[in-house]
Amino acid sequence: MSEESIYHHHHPENEEHYKGLKVNKGVKEMPKVNPYRSKLKRRAKLTVSEYVEGILKGDLSILSRAVTLVESSLPEHQQIAQEVVEKALPHSGQSVRLGITGVPGAGKSTLIETLGLHLVKQGKKLAVLAIDPSSERSKGSILGDKTRMEELSVHENAFIRPSPTSGTLGGVARKSRESIVLCEAAGFDTIFVETVGVGQSEIAVHSLVDFFLLIQLSGGGDELQGIKRGIMEMADAIAINKADGSNIEKANITRQHLQNALHMFPKTESGWIPKVMTCSATENINIDAIWNMVMEYIEYVKSNNYFYQHRNEQSKYWLFQTINDRLKSDFYNNPIIKKQLKKVQEKVFNNDITSFVAAKEILKTYHQLNN
Ligand code: GDP
Repeated sequence: MSEESIYHHHHPENEEHYKGLKVNKGVKEMPKVNPYRSKLKRRAKLTVSEYVEGILKGDLSILSRAVTLVESSLPEHQQIAQEVVEKALPHSGQSVRLGITGVPGAGKSTLIETLGLHLVKQGKKLAVLAIDPSSERSKGSILGDKTRMEELSVHENAFIRPSPTSGTLGGVARKSRESIVLCEAAGFDTIFVETVGVGQSEIAVHSLVDFFLLIQLSGGGDELQGIKRGIMEMADAIAINKADGSNIEKANITRQHLQNALHMFPKTESGWIPKVMTCSATENINIDAIWNMVMEYIEYVKSNNYFYQHRNEQSKYWLFQTINDRLKSDFYNNPIIKKQLKKVQEKVFNNDITSFVAAKEILKTYHQLNN
């Protein structure tokens, strides 16, 4: 078949009247990892108070829809989302927020499944959110893979939400912060935020969570090479996963290496000494020990006040981050600025003016527009 005939082959699903696939404008459809569990009939629109009431009752279907609104880029969705988040805010904050990062294949989802089941079986309510900055490229989130977290995803005490599929890393992280608020208001006492260990995303996750767990694999003495120093410094603990079978010895050596490396780092702000542990997510070895350590940490930082201080710092971070984002988008989306930018750019290219003078001129225009 020629290339052309492949693309021009008749596709009924592309026709306007085709009803099989509904995509709301501005809302990226998520893979449905969690089945909707509401008795309520799905209606086109809910009011802000219906959203808030539903969330406070712990209705997962309404929670899920509210998170979708938070993730939407449509202004009218954002408007409702902001009001819902604001009303949910006083009911949030009462949870343990755990960040989990590691390179693809490290075993994040397997560990979340094992640890998550351990927790929900104890009666905890667990929400798992993902931040995946690469999802845009790979066409679909890492969490979209339905084989992940098979048992956990259908447990009544679990709410699993894939990464929003579009937006900048900062934008996605802000949405996750708002989703955390909604989940907590819905009664989730444990929040996991998962991200792929690729560099930037860890910083975003660090600004969302209380405890930062880095999942590593054992390697032949080169375990430090793959991890950026900054990420190691952020970690409150490193779990060397797949410590099972013939891998146990290697994992123990890696643990020793990492422990030695961590000793060289400056003292942490929290006063906590980062721990290195080995575990096996598939064999369920040491998974409960990881959770006990997280609990030990929370107790420790609550007693020395760092827990609250850290959350305040995070609020401050998001305050400034939001202002920065808003200023930037206001500026760059302004039609007059857009036009002038284009013009000035030409001048810069022609060496008529320097970049600095050009910037000054545009900012002057912007200030005049706002006065
Ligand atoms: P992720 O990309 O970090 O989420 O990694 P996955 O959880 O998808 O795991 C990647 C692969 O490693 C899968 O084939 C898992 O079955 C396997 N795996 C995960 N944890 C362990 C473990 O503790 N031991 C062993 N032997 N394999 C594991």
